[in-house]
Amino acid sequence: MKSAPSLHEKMKGFEELCREQGVPLTVQRRAILESLAQREDHPTADQVYEKVSPSLPGLSRTTVYRVLETLVGLGVIHKANHLGSAARYDPNTERHHHLTCLSCHRVVDVEDDKLKRVDLPKARAQGFEITDYSVHFKGTCPDCAAKLKAGRKA
Ligand SMILES: [Zn+2]
Ligand SMILES: [Zn+2]
Repeated sequence: MKSAPSLHEKMKGFEELCREQGVPLTVQRRAILESLAQREDHPTADQVYEKVSPSLPGLSRTTVYRVLETLVGLGVIHKANHLGSAARYDPNTERHHHLTCLSCHRVVDVEDDKLKRVDLPKARAQGFEITDYSVHFKGTCPDCAAKLKAGRKA
């Protein structure tokens, strides 16, 4: 297993990507990326806003949405859109998969070698060329499972 890159390395990667794309890494973009790179819980735009706004007075929720969407469009970050919940933003752009808790909607990364060798369906017949995929598992996270158990006992 490769070790997780440090925040510094992640930010350097983002800087490079932005440079390649010819977009300036503004103070706002940097703050938003930094906040995203520091967490692994796939925050919503609102959660990013709440985290970043104290250090960036005058920053609006709309700006945060716009910056996140711009970064998604550039391929600097990924958007995990699971049906029925708010869009989550993900600093990890490598192919990986997600576990979602149906109680608290937490999204956790999951990597499994078996998922790297998936036989893709023959979608060409439908005129569809598959370029990527991700697997979305749903269930109950340990915290929620513990709460459920405690609730049952009480
Ligand atoms: Zn949960
Ligand atoms: Zn992820």
